[in-house]
Amino acid sequence: MKQICVFAGSSAGHNPAYAEGAKKLGKAFAEKNIELVYGGAKSGLMGVLADSILEQGGKVTGVMPTELFDREIAHTELSDFIEVNTMHERKAKMSELADGYIALPGGFGTFEELFETVSWAQIGLHQKPVALFNIEGYYTPLKRLIEHAIEAGFVPETNRSIIVDSADPYGLLDMMNNYDSRNQ
Ligand code: AMP
Repeated sequence: MKQICVFAGSSAGHNPAYAEGAKKLGKAFAEKNIELVYGGAKSGLMGVLADSILEQGGKVTGVMPTELFDREIAHTELSDFIEVNTMHERKAKMSELADGYIALPGGFGTFEELFETVSWAQIGLHQKPVALFNIEGYYTPLKRLIEHAIEAGFVPETNRSIIVDSADPYGLLDMMNNYDSRNQ
């Protein structure tokens, strides 16, 4: 994988472990020469991750709709910054560039981006790996919800494997490299 799209909170969360995890993921990206594609903001875990990669000489592309510039505070030091018109164009551009997707801890925005990607994998619109970086178990309740949805008959059992997860950034990248979309 050359470029990975990361969805992450525009906040950093209360537990400092979230930002520490984002920094570790940035280090792993730089070490493995993986380029980051993300929303382009300076705030929250999005900014922490971008800064961590840039500090280690890695490459970061931000994709932001013009209307969000004031609200999100665009990161001005990125390797590449792509300005788009709408949120939909942002997601389309990030998808076009990415070979895989990772969600860091985040809120509604992160969930929305993650689940669009998962639901598109489910109907075969892409075969790229989708991963949860499960820092301090942040995504464990989401994994439980998915199990609940499988048990209740709303998510096919075979689609469980669309999402991989790990609390270790290197383990996560390995799982993504070995991802087999035929398991979906
Ligand atoms: P949050 O996880 O709620 O802090 O949101 C993280 C980021 O996701 C936000 O700052 C937005 O840049 C982005 N975002 C939220 N909703 C959407 C959407 N519908 N399409 C694309 N990006 C979004």
